[in-house]
Amino acid sequence: MKLVYPFAAIVGQEEMKLALMLAAVDQTIGGVLIFGDRGTGKSTAVRALAALLPKKSLVSGCPYNCTPQAYAGLCARCEKPARREPKAQMEPTPVVDLPLGATEDRVIGALDIERALSAGEKHFEPGLLARAHGGFLYIDEVNLLEDHLVDLLLDVTASGENVVEREGLSIRHPARFVLVGSGNPEEGELRPQLLDRFGLCLEVRTPTDLASRIEVVRRREEFEQDRVAFLEKWKREETKVRNAISKARMALPDVEMPDSTLEKAVELSMALGSDGLRGELTLIRAARAAAALDRSKQVTPAHLRKVAVLALRHRLRKAPTEEIDSGQRVERAVASVLAA
Ligand SMILES: [Zn+2]
Repeated sequence: MKLVYPFAAIVGQEEMKLALMLAAVDQTIGGVLIFGDRGTGKSTAVRALAALLPKKSLVSGCPYNCTPQAYAGLCARCEKPARREPKAQMEPTPVVDLPLGATEDRVIGALDIERALSAGEKHFEPGLLARAHGGFLYIDEVNLLEDHLVDLLLDVTASGENVVEREGLSIRHPARFVLVGSGNPEEGELRPQLLDRFGLCLEVRTPTDLASRIEVVRRREEFEQDRVAFLEKWKREETKVRNAISKARMALPDVEMPDSTLEKAVELSMALGSDGLRGELTLIRAARAAAALDRSKQVTPAHLRKVAVLALRHRLRKAPTEEIDSGQRVERAVASVLAA
């Protein structure tokens, strides 16, 4: 196993850590988009999170990440679920990289037409979307992703299914995953439809205070010099984060949302004129996940406050003469709606 930098050892970047933890607690929040300059530790944080995700029961050797309860029904191992329960084992939650230059075949999978014509059998080589099913799909520099891949992702994230069609042959399998993207907005805009697919959005910056900068360098050096020792040193803190995530997952279904908090959430979205229902739903789900992480039995306005910028900043209609950034606009609305 590769030794990755521990999540708990990331200096500062509290908003990024919170967003990733929320997405890990409730996968229906819809993933995280992280904007920021190179070298702000975006990829490090995503890889670190992967190491913290709870293991899942998956059918042994299944390329579609079938669980013993749900089959894609495409692989020899799970083809005949009725006959007997397939062997399953606990596997890490998949975190799959989608590289910018990936071909369509690599992403959606490839149907072997020649084999179909000559041998008369359907042969399908599953792609990255199959591997990401039930887990996370990470796209670094997502704003530079080619248009046809963006279209494809929009289809798959909307339907939860990957459909591959070639010359009259077609194959489909479930593909539901949490999308995590990162990028530098100065290098290219993200299409609004894709932006909307991300539940939470945030910007990371290089820390500006001297003490944090020194700490970042010091820890990185220590990690590079002796990874095993560094991981050992951070093991306790890391276990705390891992336990917090798994406990919050278990507690989530029982966290109550009082009507008064729900009203505030809707009021807040209305005050900001955020488009559609998705903003409200994301705000509510993220607040509930935040409450679960706090081990609170109820969602309070304080939880809304904690997640409002993350959930809403990328859903505001742009005013033509925008003088402040969208994060600040959300903060102002939070101050006026939640103070009342
Ligand atoms: Zn399977």
